[in-house]
Amino acid sequence: MKNNELKYGFRLISEERIDEISSISRRLMHEQSGAELLHFENTDNNKVFLIGFKTPPDNSRGIPHILEHCVLNGSRKFTCKEPFVELLKGSMQTFTNAMTYPDKTVYPVASTNNQDFFNLMDVYMDAVFFPNIYLNSDIFRQEGWHYKLNNSEDNLEIKGVVYNEMEGVFSSPEQILFRSIMKSLLPDTIYANESGGEPDEIPKLTYEEFIAFHKKYYHPSNCKIILYGDGNLEKQLAFLNEGYLDQFQRKEMNIDSWMQTKIPKNKSVELVYPLLEDESENAKAYLNLSYVVGNNLNPETVLGMDILEHILLGTPASPLKNRLLKENLGKDIFGQFDSELLQPIFSITAKHTIPEKKEEFGNIINETLSSLAENGINEQIVRASVNIKEFRLREADFGGYPKGLVFGLSSLAHWIYSDNPLEILEFEKPLKSIKEKIENGYFEGLIKEYLIDNPHRITISLLPKKGLTEERMLKKTENLKNYKSELSDSELNAIIAETNNLREKQIAEDSEENLKTIPLLKLSDLNRRSDKIEIISDDIDGNRSLLHTGDTRGIGYVKYFFDAQMIFQDDLKWTSLLVSILGKVNTEKYSYKQLSNEILFHTGGIGFSLDTFQIEDSEEFLTKLTVSTKALNPKIKDSNRLIHEILSSSKFDDKNRIREIVRELKSRMEMTIAHSGHQVASTRLLSYLNSIGIHHECTGGLEFYRFLFQLDMDFDNKYETLKDKLNKILISVYNKQNMIIGVTSDLDSEKLLKHDIKDYLMQLPDSKSSKQTITTTPKILNEGLSIPSRVQYVAQGYNFRELGFKHSGAMTVFSRIAGLDYLWNTVRVQGGAYGSFVSLARNGDTVFSSYRDPNLKKTLQVFQDTNEYLKQFNPSEREMRKYIIGSISSLDKPLTPKMKGSVGIARYFKKINEDIIKSHREEVRGTKPEHIRELTEMIVAVLEKKVICVVGNEGKLQKNKSVFGKILPIFN
Ligand SMILES: [Zn+2]
Repeated sequence: MKNNELKYGFRLISEERIDEISSISRRLMHEQSGAELLHFENTDNNKVFLIGFKTPPDNSRGIPHILEHCVLNGSRKFTCKEPFVELLKGSMQTFTNAMTYPDKTVYPVASTNNQDFFNLMDVYMDAVFFPNIYLNSDIFRQEGWHYKLNNSEDNLEIKGVVYNEMEGVFSSPEQILFRSIMKSLLPDTIYANESGGEPDEIPKLTYEEFIAFHKKYYHPSNCKIILYGDGNLEKQLAFLNEGYLDQFQRKEMNIDSWMQTKIPKNKSVELVYPLLEDESENAKAYLNLSYVVGNNLNPETVLGMDILEHILLGTPASPLKNRLLKENLGKDIFGQFDSELLQPIFSITAKHTIPEKKEEFGNIINETLSSLAENGINEQIVRASVNIKEFRLREADFGGYPKGLVFGLSSLAHWIYSDNPLEILEFEKPLKSIKEKIENGYFEGLIKEYLIDNPHRITISLLPKKGLTEERMLKKTENLKNYKSELSDSELNAIIAETNNLREKQIAEDSEENLKTIPLLKLSDLNRRSDKIEIISDDIDGNRSLLHTGDTRGIGYVKYFFDAQMIFQDDLKWTSLLVSILGKVNTEKYSYKQLSNEILFHTGGIGFSLDTFQIEDSEEFLTKLTVSTKALNPKIKDSNRLIHEILSSSKFDDKNRIREIVRELKSRMEMTIAHSGHQVASTRLLSYLNSIGIHHECTGGLEFYRFLFQLDMDFDNKYETLKDKLNKILISVYNKQNMIIGVTSDLDSEKLLKHDIKDYLMQLPDSKSSKQTITTTPKILNEGLSIPSRVQYVAQGYNFRELGFKHSGAMTVFSRIAGLDYLWNTVRVQGGAYGSFVSLARNGDTVFSSYRDPNLKKTLQVFQDTNEYLKQFNPSEREMRKYIIGSISSLDKPLTPKMKGSVGIARYFKKINEDIIKSHREEVRGTKPEHIRELTEMIVAVLEKKVICVVGNEGKLQKNKSVFGKILPIFN
């Protein structure tokens, strides 16, 4: 396409190369509708499409969030109840989701299959521009909120998917804190409103207000579209034009500016969060200082502030973090720089402190920052932080997420404010400029301008309050009671009728005709086989090495797997603590600060973990202490040098430092527990069943958390034992015997890495050690674990192998069917939980679980009734094909070379060869409805064991006490 040329309604405005992401970018404008489009052309077959709208909320009733849910519940062309779910069931998508931000709503999809990509775009375009919400108000009631009343004697209740999701969100102190920062700093803007919806505000939302919002903002003149990948642009433009954008005429949007120009008078805010009755209130407060950092920052300042946050607060050597810890201002200190807002925010948080320290907190921050600005920041730490940022930018490794998605989202975040969506991706220029200015006080200047001299700031105190959850629930019940008492009989009957009506619609199945509107691929569209992962097994100096080659762009990924079978079970917790401490304490040559700077300056990171690999068709599993590093190939020898330094000479004699690490670890675990209650419940449940379950519980589950809790409480007394344990474990593990090396790199550097690794191996201690076995026998406890939350995480399961069943491809298909059909409809749609899943692992471990669930017993009953669903399972050919395509594509998710290396190595340890992978895939592909029905016997046997674990609200647990062996608080 040429500049100014018009094709399918689009005019090409500009074109430029962006080397940083190996793409040609094009800006296009759809003349008639006013839609703007950004195209990234490259060779990546993981194609991405996203469409985003500015959706500034006027209040906290959650309209943007509820709309995000609702538009995916049926549209003009796609008339089934939930097209989004149908896509999850049977598309080859590599990413499908929708996200609500404080100021925008984004709908992204990705796929490696061209036909599938068009299908996904079709469903999403139709959803956002022609949703069924206008015709069917029940969509709003189900996803947003509605009154539930089965008969006139019952209590009136409020239900709704988003309503319940937000109840879960507002149970976490960190969420309460982070959401209040924007509100306090930008009180006169849209950011003062909660786009997700505040639980107390959501029920004020009317259907009319909701509809008006869609009318106003879901228009092409208010949208930004991004296309990424190796697809054919002209075909994509033609598609977007016809029947979609060509249906609209450009309109004036007139969206007010969101800038907070007046600095708020209020300089401090006090808030509360819920705590359990038997939890200690001592030192449970949060203190936070946040700054508005200019506005519409240029990319250089965004990058600079991002690095500055890392320098000040992100590493063990960070001066501000260290000072706050040393002055005992909190048990955990962390920073944040959020540049995705029109006015970016920089914040510093002290977790678990006392509110009386508020002033001291502010003073010490000012004092430290002033001293840094005046005397300069230590050059080593600056170079270390700049290097690690540069490494991450170049590596562009986003785990399992499509690259185009991450680039697209980051570009969009800036595009909605400015006319330059590309600058933020072009990091080379600002990076170079920053590097040149380091010596001339660049970061010191940022500290002065954006922090010290910045009056636009606020201090937030978040205090614990017991009984807050109960108080709120009581008030809610009271209000609903009062409201109900004022209703006339006919009004009550209307609510009962609506409740029944909604339930019937929820239970009713989609007609075949409606389901057929969702495009579906043929089985022949699937790849014949999944990518083979080639692992070459070799020897380096007598040690087994596992090599995977791929295009790693000059980066070497090296892992050392040290045999840890000799560790006694009682010492597993200590070992798990050890891996969290390594690299963060002094060694022979370096102080822990110097060590951190060395690691970040030379490498892309060095990590330590304790891993297990269960051997196929066996109860046996391997335990490894894994060291992982990544670095530019010539720098791997620096990694090795540092790894040896850490493993051979770490010192555990700095008591205060160790205490800091223990506290931070405990604090970070608390945050994880708060938002993944289902994981806590599942891990706990599996520890009732077998040795590997016990292992995971002791090294990363609640058991490990409690160990840290006790350690922190009684640190002075336990410190000597700690020192002794860590030293002994480290000496026994750091050994050349049974150590295996994993390497992922590009072919050219294989020799270099082998050479460097050989040098490293020469230094390793070499002595024999004996193997231990786990001694504890698992015990079924059926616990109810209480948290200060308004929702539950319900888990039930057992091990099917122990009951004589074998893993099969049908199980893989079944977990998809259960998650997207049976449990989706019962636990999510009808029950109001955010999610529900079933997992069936190769080793037999089976867990049904729910996420942010208002129910408990009812959900257990749903799990129990799975057999009824299974017995009657009789899908059409098309429906079955959908599940198979979905299952296969989840097996075929694209992997980066680094991920391929990891997967291949894990398979080696687990003794899973290509044949096993291939035959499993064949089984999945050949699954028939009868194979699914045949699983009934296994599911009945698993559920009959009645093994459960629930994390949830204390009152709710007590009410259902009969199902539990015992009820106890989680954080104790
Ligand atoms: Zn949501």
